[in-house]
Amino acid sequence: MMGLYQGPRLLDFAKTPSHLQFNKYVLTGYRPVSTAQECLRSLFYMHNELGNIYSHGIPFFLFLVLLPFSIPWMEVDNIWICIVHYLACLSPTIGSVVYHVFMNHVGGEHVYDTLLSLDMFGVCLVNTLGAIPIIYITLLCYPTLQQTALLAYILLSAYGIYCATTARTNVLRLRAFVWQGLFRFSLFLFRVYGSGVGSPNSLRLFVIMDSVAVLGGVVNIIQIPERFSPGLFDNWGNSHQIMHVMVICAIIYLHWGTLEDLAWIKSYQCPTE
Ligand SMILES: [Zn+2]
Repeated sequence: MMGLYQGPRLLDFAKTPSHLQFNKYVLTGYRPVSTAQECLRSLFYMHNELGNIYSHGIPFFLFLVLLPFSIPWMEVDNIWICIVHYLACLSPTIGSVVYHVFMNHVGGEHVYDTLLSLDMFGVCLVNTLGAIPIIYITLLCYPTLQQTALLAYILLSAYGIYCATTARTNVLRLRAFVWQGLFRFSLFLFRVYGSGVGSPNSLRLFVIMDSVAVLGGVVNIIQIPERFSPGLFDNWGNSHQIMHVMVICAIIYLHWGTLEDLAWIKSYQCPTE
């Protein structure tokens, strides 16, 4: 016996349904159209989505269990900041796992599109929820501006979520995140050149976070390395898996930066006029 479970015969690119033909450099290893139960069984044999499933599935469980130990729940005035941050860290991986496990479901293109929207929704949520503690802390000393900015950001994010979950191409999906990215960038500028506040160590971590995330998105769009050697990276090491790993790195940088800010906030007093 080879492996835990003898899977079904896998398909080549040309035999897979057209809505699953999104990477022409991945030539083999496609699961056949499957029921939900068969999709779950595919966790236990080799195919070309296995790396995508586990590269987000394992971090999801690690974050779920380990992050609560490092979040300073009780040391922050507003515990909701901690809850928002925890949900931000969990949201992109769980949506992604569901998408990659069930993408070949017998429901066909309609089910696939719904799952893809769920995957994109998770990415939107980490952008949206992840930035809320950053906005809160940057504008800590200006309560009115702080609340206005949080409201504006949530509205902007709702628009981004609408764009990302209805977009039809990778480029349009990436574009949905540009506005949120520009908003965060303006906060960073306000910290450096304006009267925004925050830990002196966190900004660098947030800039690395955004750079890693953008780089991951670009790698996914340009389909490197499989474009240079079609078929070689079918199961392991293709652009989508590289992006998955970069998303995990970005979440870890978000977590480190937010921890820096939350530790800093304890000892900070806003200047009084
Ligand atoms: Zn993915």
